[in-house]
Amino acid sequence: MAKTPPPVRYCRFMVDGRSYSGQIRDNAVDIVEGDPFTSLIPIRLSYPIDRVKFLPPFTPKKIWCIGRNYVGHAKELNHEIPKEPLVFLKSTSAIAGSGDFIRIPDWAGVIHYEGELAVVIGLGGKNITEEDALSHVAGYSIINDVTAREMQNTDGQWMRSKSFDTFAPFGPAVLLQKELPASTVVRTMVNGCVKQQSEISQMIFSVPKIIAHISRFATLEQGDVIATGTPEGVGPIVCGDIVEIEIDGIGKLRSICSE
Ligand code: MG
Repeated sequence: MAKTPPPVRYCRFMVDGRSYSGQIRDNAVDIVEGDPFTSLIPIRLSYPIDRVKFLPPFTPKKIWCIGRNYVGHAKELNHEIPKEPLVFLKSTSAIAGSGDFIRIPDWAGVIHYEGELAVVIGLGGKNITEEDALSHVAGYSIINDVTAREMQNTDGQWMRSKSFDTFAPFGPAVLLQKELPASTVVRTMVNGCVKQQSEISQMIFSVPKIIAHISRFATLEQGDVIATGTPEGVGPIVCGDIVEIEIDGIGKLRSICSE
């Protein structure tokens, strides 16, 4: 019987000053033509993974975010468990690639990392049902919903605290797959120490529930990204820290904190 090929891990990368679309395969990145929303044509040229600089896989049309979607995280910040998904937006201008800096201004107060599973919408729609929701998914990636925590509290709304330039590291790849196993783990490390580690089965609202909820009031569009909330274990980062967020099957999103 023919073996099913593993799902594609789509990426954008730069090598020798030129940028390409690619497909990550073990320790190499193959050049492909096309995009994750239509089709990908492999080109017979690849680079060792340690030679490439990853770029964000694409610029999201919008970054929808879900707050307090893990019981442990809601509790650690002394919040009630939400009765329905708590939705907010993060500016797309905050996007950064894997390997890029998170720029932390000295006046911004306490800054927290938030490792999160990102859902990439492939097929837009309105009033999408939970049953149909996964057919609208192009794939999954990783996002760090970096937050100026004190400012989030004093501002009374979250736009500024979550939208500083570079506060949305995204990538390194989009796993082109409609559904992830419930046992998939989101893991955040700071300077090599594990700070967050949780199965996505621990989400209060599942990916289909979130898609159905957002699309009840807004049309989801191809290229929208949904950051699905962070598990417990958020904490501060300062200049010089290395933050890595790893999700089984997708890869590792790496950021360096700097002024
Ligand atoms: Mg978050």
